Amino acid sequence: MKYVSTRGDAPVLGFDDVLLAGLARDGGLYLPETWPELSPAALTAFAGRPYAEVATALMAPYLGGGIDEDLVSGIVAEAYDRFRHPAVVPLRQVGDNEWVLELFHGPTLAFKDVALQVLGRLFDAELTRRSERLTILGATSGDTGPAAIEACRDRQALDVFILHPAGRISEVQRRQMTTVESANVHNLAVEGTFDDCQDLVKTMFADLSLRDELRLSAVNSINWARVLPQVVYYATAAVALGAPGRPIAVSVPTGNFGNAFAAWIARRMGVPIAQTIVASNRNDIASRFLTTGIMEVQEVHPTTSPAMDIQVSSNLERLLFELFDRDAAAVADHMARFSHGGRMEIDPERLAPLGEVFDTTRVDDATVARAMGELYAASGHIVDPHTAVGLVAGRKCRRDPAVPLVALATAHPAKFPDTVEAATGVRPELPAHLADLFDRPEHCATLPCDLAAVRDYVVANARA
Ligand SMILES: *Cc1c(COP(=O)(O)O)cnc(C)c1O
Repeated sequence: MKYVSTRGDAPVLGFDDVLLAGLARDGGLYLPETWPELSPAALTAFAGRPYAEVATALMAPYLGGGIDEDLVSGIVAEAYDRFRHPAVVPLRQVGDNEWVLELFHGPTLAFKDVALQVLGRLFDAELTRRSERLTILGATSGDTGPAAIEACRDRQALDVFILHPAGRISEVQRRQMTTVESANVHNLAVEGTFDDCQDLVKTMFADLSLRDELRLSAVNSINWARVLPQVVYYATAAVALGAPGRPIAVSVPTGNFGNAFAAWIARRMGVPIAQTIVASNRNDIASRFLTTGIMEVQEVHPTTSPAMDIQVSSNLERLLFELFDRDAAAVADHMARFSHGGRMEIDPERLAPLGEVFDTTRVDDATVARAMGELYAASGHIVDPHTAVGLVAGRKCRRDPAVPLVALATAHPAKFPDTVEAATGVRPELPAHLADLFDRPEHCATLPCDLAAVRDYVVANARA
């Protein structure tokens, strides 16, 4: 399998090079040249098989000789062995034909572990094979950082630098990053918003000489290898609920649009997803784009679902590429307009086909809190605020009550104990492996929101 950039001006690469590159050199995102298909028979054959086996089978056509398949199957098995549930991503019924897909049983209690536990191992294996080192640079709105650090810690071939917006992530999230004792882990608290952090990272990636000097790479969902493992759980959830004979509806709490785009891919491959509900909090650039065709940056508003407090949803670019029938020049043109003026617009006829695939709504904090309280009162289930955004949106946008609704549970409630306690009266406990989190010493540098300051810090501390 070969991969092409959404902006058409970067080398066509195999899986191994796409993995290490992250962002394409022309600023675009990589996508496979063609979409592999899953036949109904292939879906049927997934039924009852261990999650790691299904993941390996689904991902195989995407590797296409770019990386050793036996190596990947070993890595996938090891990665999902670290999840604290035998089903890896269990489905839990919470209402009438209504389910949550619990994606948070990995080491950092967020769905990002599902992809990153695979990605960190892939990076290390491929770099070791090449006798190379890399510098992982990323920005986090709260959940990517801990998951990236946990995936990269102690790996000889990697240094990892994670920027987070100082004071704007939860204490659990901060401590999950800053208490890691590992020489290759560097936490940078930046005095700005998440989008400021992401801009700093993007600017450093755009500086090609710096990028080469430090061998910079990314682990956020601009990296194709972050998106691919997320396709798997849409397939396993659908199969568990009756696919290929019966479709499902999914509701996805959305920030960077990586998870929602993974649902798009699953459907494109042949997983029967009748409806994908894109659930936003008050920061709703993805919802607004899907509804109006206008992509426009607005101010970031802090909410009780901070992992979604984003005003640039990078993976919309991958969707745009498909909407434009893979016309990379048109994507490059629209994205240039967006990055210069903070706004771009596509024609309504381009947007129209999306109506069949996506429904979308935004959910405010008060509604989230009420839904968490009501769910707990009705069923005894406690969900985190991100999951609640998806559940509320799913109930609101659902077209057919006979189609099972699967709301993605993207974080463990104990990551957001204050919000959960305020809504339900119950303070969720951290799992045993994190019980002493608040007693561990923290390691973090606080830096101004300034390119030179951040760049100098990374240059001084990277070993690549
Ligand atoms: C990252 C994250 C999201 C948003 O996922 P995207 O793929 O960025 O859209 C939602 N919920 C939680 C808990 C997250 O960590």
